[in-house]
Amino acid sequence: MEKTNTAQDASNLCQQCGLCCTGLLFEYVSFKEHELQNVDVGAYKMNKPGKRALTHPCQFLDGTSCGIYIDRPSKCRSFACISRQKVLNGTIALDEGNAVVAEIQGLLLQLASIGEETPGLDYQTIGFRKFCEKFAKSIDKKLNKGTLPTETEQKVVSLCFEIIKIIDRHFRKTSRLNKYAQLVTNIDYLAESTKQR
Ligand code: SF4
Ligand code: SF4
Repeated sequence: MEKTNTAQDASNLCQQCGLCCTGLLFEYVSFKEHELQNVDVGAYKMNKPGKRALTHPCQFLDGTSCGIYIDRPSKCRSFACISRQKVLNGTIALDEGNAVVAEIQGLLLQLASIGEETPGLDYQTIGFRKFCEKFAKSIDKKLNKGTLPTETEQKVVSLCFEIIKIIDRHFRKTSRLNKYAQLVTNIDYLAESTKQR
């Protein structure tokens, strides 16, 4: 049987992806004092007291690649999402990993195009993870008042739910899955009861 170089495959997967630096999976990556000494990190933010951290989307992300690859922090080096691990250990082939990345990128593009047209729905500046948290709060507020979110907002809720499902299955377990499942259910319930009035 022909052996594949899964280390090379995993590296190729990441080169086409870069999603763990965009704010999709993390809000920041912390680094140690001795790290990034050769790099101008500018006005990095302290996300936790006493911790140095690069907020995401990371300022060093260049397309889907790390712009400071050789000098990147140890946390960046050691992270492997679920798909990368599966490619590394041979559970899935590179093609399957690429297909997952392409699927989530397609959904993120749809979300980005809504954000470009609708003020307040731009996820790209703050990153998907932070956006989801803020957006869920705003939708909760409406639902608690008995107000149905707009059609665009409902579309964004559905898109976020689909993206979160892929994240949970293929990238990293996320606590937001249940929150968005609740939002979808509550919107359906309110829409149904509004129709019956
Ligand atoms: S999200 Fe996973 S596949 Fe994508 S760059 Fe990060 S580790 Fe690699
Ligand atoms: S330093 Fe590089 S690897 Fe680390 S989050 Fe930023 S772009 Fe990604």
